[in-house]
Parts: sequence; structure tokens; C-alpha cells
Amino acid sequence: MPRCRLLLLPIMILALLLPCLALPPAPDTASPAPPATTAASTAASYWLPPLQIAPTPRVRLQTESGTLELDAEEYLIGVVAAEMPASFSAEALSAQAVAARSYLLSHSADYGRPRHTEADVCIESAHCQAYLSEAELRQRWGAEYEARYAKIAAAVAQTRGLVLWYAGAIAEAPFCSACGGSSEAAAELWGGTRDYLIAAECRWCAHAPRYRQTEVLPLSEAAAALCCTESELLTMQLVAESSGGRVASLSIGGSSYSGAELRQRLKLPSAAFSWLIAGDELRLFCRGYGHGVGLCQYGADGMAAEGAHFTAILAHYYPGTQLMQLY
Ligand SMILES: [Zn+2]
Ligand SMILES: [Zn+2]
Repeated sequence: MPRCRLLLLPIMILALLLPCLALPPAPDTASPAPPATTAASTAASYWLPPLQIAPTPRVRLQTESGTLELDAEEYLIGVVAAEMPASFSAEALSAQAVAARSYLLSHSADYGRPRHTEADVCIESAHCQAYLSEAELRQRWGAEYEARYAKIAAAVAQTRGLVLWYAGAIAEAPFCSACGGSSEAAAELWGGTRDYLIAAECRWCAHAPRYRQTEVLPLSEAAAALCCTESELLTMQLVAESSGGRVASLSIGGSSYSGAELRQRLKLPSAAFSWLIAGDELRLFCRGYGHGVGLCQYGADGMAAEGAHFTAILAHYYPGTQLMQLY
């Protein structure tokens, strides 16, 4: 295989010499101000001129038909198109582009955290990020292809080279479909300490089609999935709730289950749920869709609909991070 062409180590060194670009909550402040250093700042001049310190990185992408190598910005158009509806607001698409670029580059071989041996990323959304090729997008969008592609390409171009930066490194920047009212702290779900991935209130994702869902399971089916008896289901008790309002731990008949395990076993849209046993049914009232950590995609769209700039969206869901222009 060709040696990785993500020439980012020299970029890292140069980047450390550059000022970070803070994420301001308001993009339309009239008077210029010096670059800010925290997300809480209201500085308007968050943007530094493109420095062109390095060429656009190349990405090794593992697909079903082999490993492709393509321009990072071109790859990101295919990721944003696959991960977020093209109907979303432009600023939401731009926020998604920064999150996707940060995810990509934080998992490149040059940064020491690759997820593949012969590629930087794959096309599996459950492992890396979803990606659709031009041919797949043409097939999916039909007559709308040109307009939708142009919209997403413009949203990606608006953020060219920008990544989220935290504590001297590219932030990993996970995202989910709809948080259901509050995002989740990564530390509570995955362990570790990522201070910018904390529970953030979200009042913008109520238009998500899966904002609220009720799942109904026969007790026999639920008992089989949880390896317990139907009578033990009657003892279901919440032991601990996460800071984002999800089930952290729950006991059933003396056994303990994490929210993530329950979500997987019962095939729930999220670990944010309450429940009721009625007759021979277990009814689960779920909030949101996805793990809930990081950017809430429908929330980003809701914020953008209220006029938020992509920097304000990122500052809300990744508090304390800054924007760094890597190329
Ligand atoms: Zn992967
Ligand atoms: Zn949300």
C-alpha cells in the first residue's frame, strides 16, 4: 500500500505556532475584535485569513471494493451528504463538515489514533463515518443531484481546513442524530476524560422524526432479550441516571445493566427512556435517536433555523473547543 499521504505532522508543528480561532456564540457582531480564546467570547473576528500552510490532505478510504485515495475536502462532501439531510440549513451542514473533518483527521495515522491498518477511515457509520460516492448520490438524489451537491459543497467549502481543537490536539467530535433534549457526557458512556464532550441542554431537535418514540415489547420478548424471567421484569428499577438524563444503570432481578447494554439488547433508539409494564407488555418511552454525544444534528438544524452561525452551533455542542485552520 502506498505510504499515508496525510502529511499532518509538520502541519501539527506549524499549527501549534498559530493562534487558535475561538468559537463565538454570535457571528453577527458588528465591530471587529481581537481573536478570542474561549467559546464564551463574543469576538467577531474568529476568522483568520487562510494561511495555505499545507496542501489539502489526501484520505485513504476503505470501501467495499478496496481502498480509495481522495482529496479530504472532496471526501467530506460525501460524508456530509451521507450523514445529514441535504435539506438542512447551510450553517448546520457547515457545523457537520467541521465535526466530520475533525473526526477524520483525529483518526489519521499521523495523529497516532488510526482505526484501520491500511486506511484512515472506512465507510461504516457505526465505526467511522458514512460516505456516499458521486455515483451513489446521483442515484439517491436523481434530478435534485446538482442543486443538493452544490449546497453541500458550499457548506463544506465555507469551513475548508477548519478542525475543532482542544488541549493541543484535534478534538474527536462525535455526533448523533437527535439528542432528545440533552446531549450526553462521553465520559459516562465511553469512559475517559473528554471535557468538551459534556451534557449540553438542547431545545432545538424537537422537529426530528424520532424525537419521541414508544417501543412496545411483549414481556416474553423483553425477558428473552435480557436473559431474565418475566416476573423479574417487574423488579426493573433505575439505579443511576447520567448527567444527560439517560439510563446509566438499571437493575432487574438482582442483575445490573448499563444504559448502552439495554439499548443494544432491546434495540432501542436511545438510552434515554422511561418505561411502564401494562398487562403482558413492556412499554418504553424513548427520547432521541443515537448515543447522544457531541453535535445533535437536528439540534444543529434547529439552531441554524434561528440564525445561529456554524461556529455558535459548534460552541454549544463542543464547549471549550476552538477552531484551528490546519490548511
Ligand atoms: Zn472504520
Ligand atoms: Zn438535540
